[in-house]
Amino acid sequence: MKHKTIEEKKNIVILGGGFAGIRAALDLNNYLHDNSDYQIILVDRKDYQCYHPGLYEAATTEHGLVEVRRVKRTVAISLAQIFYKTKVKVFKAYIDRIALADGKVITDSRILSFDYLVVAMGSIADFYDIPGLDKHGYPLKNLDEAIMIRNRIEEIVIKKDRAQFVIGGGGFAGTELAGELHNLLKHECEDHGKKLENFKIIIVEGGMSFLGGLSEKVAKMVGERLTGMGVETRFSSLITEAAADHIIINMKDRINSDLLIWTGGVRSIRLPVDPPAGGDLAADKKDRIITTDFLNLKHSPNIFIAGDNLCFTDPATKKSNAQTGQEAVRHGALVAKNIFRLIKGRPLLPYSVGPTRFVIPVSGKYAILYTPNLLVVGFWGWLIRKGADLRYFWSVLPLWTALKYWLFENKIFMKND
Ligand SMILES: Cc1cc2nc3c(=O)[nH]c(=O)nc-3n(C[C@H](O)[C@H](O)[C@H](O)COP(=O)(O)OP(=O)(O)OC[C@H]3O[C@@H](n4cnc5c(N)ncnc54)[C@H](O)[C@@H]3O)c2cc1C
Repeated sequence: MKHKTIEEKKNIVILGGGFAGIRAALDLNNYLHDNSDYQIILVDRKDYQCYHPGLYEAATTEHGLVEVRRVKRTVAISLAQIFYKTKVKVFKAYIDRIALADGKVITDSRILSFDYLVVAMGSIADFYDIPGLDKHGYPLKNLDEAIMIRNRIEEIVIKKDRAQFVIGGGGFAGTELAGELHNLLKHECEDHGKKLENFKIIIVEGGMSFLGGLSEKVAKMVGERLTGMGVETRFSSLITEAAADHIIINMKDRINSDLLIWTGGVRSIRLPVDPPAGGDLAADKKDRIITTDFLNLKHSPNIFIAGDNLCFTDPATKKSNAQTGQEAVRHGALVAKNIFRLIKGRPLLPYSVGPTRFVIPVSGKYAILYTPNLLVVGFWGWLIRKGADLRYFWSVLPLWTALKYWLFENKIFMKND
């Protein structure tokens, strides 16, 4: 049998090695591993997946106890290890432009042609055009930012006798971070002979409760736990201006701020696309691309969108999808299935939004598992959260490697508890 040359093979190109892109690539590998007519290429500017759910812990690891190199290992899952022994080729490059109509992706080092394309390039912090926020607010969206935040915290404790840490946003990331920040400050103050009561944490939240109104009961529990640790909260407080040493809320009140950490929202990255034949891409106000129910583009059915780049409106609730890792994984799985079905000439399957299920860790070995039918609080909630981390690692890595990541993560993250 004559083998196809590289030029003759069809290319499935996946842009972004995050939750959605990795799932799509692994599932496509399962469907096509013995089909030599197809190549699967995953492009990312990094050689690892950033495991965002661990970022708040990474940002609050103690300097004296954990060096930067080890912080990286807690939230960076090697793409080489994920795709070891698969036919997925990982290509490390910066994606400059996606020429949809020409079927090409232009990167900083090579041009890739595609027959099928998956766009899953994630999101960035949304600063809502608030004056000064992009300059003075520290976002927590990637490993470098987590390390920058941890450096800044230590610097402040060393240099100052009192300080105020403001967290913009009382959603998941903000509340999780506040709890761990309190633990870190406890340790840093002990190490540097400072008084903990002089270092304040304030959460500034635009809404009237924590977690964007997910559940009143859970929001109350989170509030009680944080208040018990001395964390202050200002609800119905919109940051309307940020400066180097203060913020303004609701256009009038000034709050001093030695460090402003911004977890108040994300938006899809603005995709560097040339529009496909058939017209502009439709996007929502967060720059997310609106697709068909099969997660592909109406006029270019071989092009799929997944993860934080996707705007999918649930026909039952009329709500658009949450920007979460859980949803992104489900998108990736369906996109892989639908590409395989396109190849086989079978009808495509529509997307359905996943179940509501969250685990919210709030400092130390305490977390709240929330589903509409089940609530688990405290140590058991924390164990479930740890189980969820391991489950994710194992879904992309062989068991032994997944266990190694998980044990290492726990060893480092428990140092502050
Ligand atoms: C602090 C924090 C905590 C979170 N905690 C949770 C949680 O507990 N549970 C949960 O379900 N969700 C959580 N999320 C949300 C979740 O991380 C995102 O929804 C998810 O990462 C989206 O997946 P994705 O595949 O769309 O994008 P990502 O996972 O962000 O992947 C996108 C990839 O695209 C690459 N990329 C982007 N632009 C380029 C370019 N120009 N060239 C090359 N590569 C590029 C990036 O390097 C990245 O690897 C959290 C998010 C944050 C920020």
